[in-house]
Amino acid sequence: MCNRYEEFLEEILIPEEALRQRVAELGAQISQDYKHSEKLVLLCILRGGVMFLTDLIRHLTVPHMVDFMAVSSYGAGSRQSTGQVRITLDLNTSIEDCDVLIVEDIIDSGRTLASVINLLSARKPRSLAVCTLLDKAERREVEVPLRYVGFTIPNKFVFGYGLDLDELYRNLPFIGVVNEEKYQQSRLKREC
Ligand code: 5GP
Ligand code: MG
Ligand code: MG
Repeated sequence: MCNRYEEFLEEILIPEEALRQRVAELGAQISQDYKHSEKLVLLCILRGGVMFLTDLIRHLTVPHMVDFMAVSSYGAGSRQSTGQVRITLDLNTSIEDCDVLIVEDIIDSGRTLASVINLLSARKPRSLAVCTLLDKAERREVEVPLRYVGFTIPNKFVFGYGLDLDELYRNLPFIGVVNEEKYQQSRLKREC
């Protein structure tokens, strides 16, 4: 297992303290906006959004439920998605007449989210909105409505704070940028 992320960490894009502060702000804003909601569901798209979700809900002062959904893109490489999504884990409960807030780690092309919104709209929620920690706005191919954005970031592959690098390093408390060249070298060296 290659744990030495320092070898291929290009830079820390968003440090732990900035994440903490922004997540608290988002939590306060969401609490204000949904204070009259009778059935709020925070719907986390696995797996990248998990750390964001668990930190975010600690700042919510309104009653809410939490549910999870996992989707996978058909034929996607590890660094991009096709957006043709298939549900691999569905919700446990009905969202009909609920205020649904989708919680995402990062929006890139927007294809995954557009498909998820399509799928969920058919289930007749009372409202449907999106909260994403990160927005790679310049990569957008499909318009998607984002009500809450933590940070708009440049077109760089990032990892940490829930986001993976080949399924590893989700535990890091910051958002880092990978140096692809050094990462490949480090993988070869360690065969991981
Ligand atoms: P989209 O369909 O918007 O192109 O892709 C969204 C998904 O691609 C995210 O949920 C995430 O799984 C993955 N993704 C896009 N950019 C990054 C990135 O910079 N780092 C990581 N770890 N995943 C990313
Ligand atoms: Mg995601
Ligand atoms: Mg991933």
